[in-house]
Amino acid sequence: MSSVQIRDVRKSFGNFEVLHGVSIPIEDGQFVVLVGPSGCGKSTLLRMLAGLENITSGTISIGDRVVNNVQPKERDIAMVFQNYALYPHMTVAENMGFSLKLRNAGSDEINKRVKRAAEILALSPLLDRYPRQLSGGQRQRVAMGRAIVRDPQVFLFDEPLSNLDAKLRVAMRTEIKELHQRLKTTTVYVTHDQIEAMTMADKIVVMHDGIVEQMGTPLELYDKPDNQFVAGFIGSPA
Ligand code: ADP
Ligand code: MG
Repeated sequence: MSSVQIRDVRKSFGNFEVLHGVSIPIEDGQFVVLVGPSGCGKSTLLRMLAGLENITSGTISIGDRVVNNVQPKERDIAMVFQNYALYPHMTVAENMGFSLKLRNAGSDEINKRVKRAAEILALSPLLDRYPRQLSGGQRQRVAMGRAIVRDPQVFLFDEPLSNLDAKLRVAMRTEIKELHQRLKTTTVYVTHDQIEAMTMADKIVVMHDGIVEQMGTPLELYDKPDNQFVAGFIGSPA
């Protein structure tokens, strides 16, 4: 677990600036949801947190450490993507242990961590199956399992539910929240779905065209939107 500080972060691709000075304080253990229309810069910001995209200016700190120049592998962060491709030729257990293997963990340590993650996610009976033998929801849980085996300081989710059908999406929201209540890992969760943001967040950050329009608890944003954009966005159906 760790706090995360995003301070006046800008990002340009060529001469096109997509983030215009974004500052977001995130407390240790908080579940923060970044929400905003498609193209507003959510994924870019998340990729910078993960170290997959360099920062044009500003700073990102995790705990006490400024990580601007820290490689992804050296950041204690795990990310769950939208297109959570599992390795088709590996079992559930192998999929979950793979990132530890890449980091040279021993096989006893890997087994122990995979077993624990499988218990948390109710995947224990499925460890020997292959991805094609799983349902959509089970695959999604394996994708989360791959992230939690590493016991990272920070979880990043980029629209992890957008490929699931509506019913499963609602069920997985609850599962992810329960996981957070259990592990208390600092989480940054990106979605363009207002309902997801309202139901999951400790704190919502509303983004629009590369800036933060407003941050606050779901209730604060709902009761006192700062401007028309926030009012329209939070108030409208998904
Ligand atoms: P969101 O996740 O909120 O939908 P993104 O962060 O993916 O938005 O994109 C923000 C803007 O940055 C978009 O206009 C997108 O086209 C642009 N963009 C993202 N990645 C790149 C890139 N590698 N090169 C050029 N432009 C990019
Ligand atoms: Mg995106």
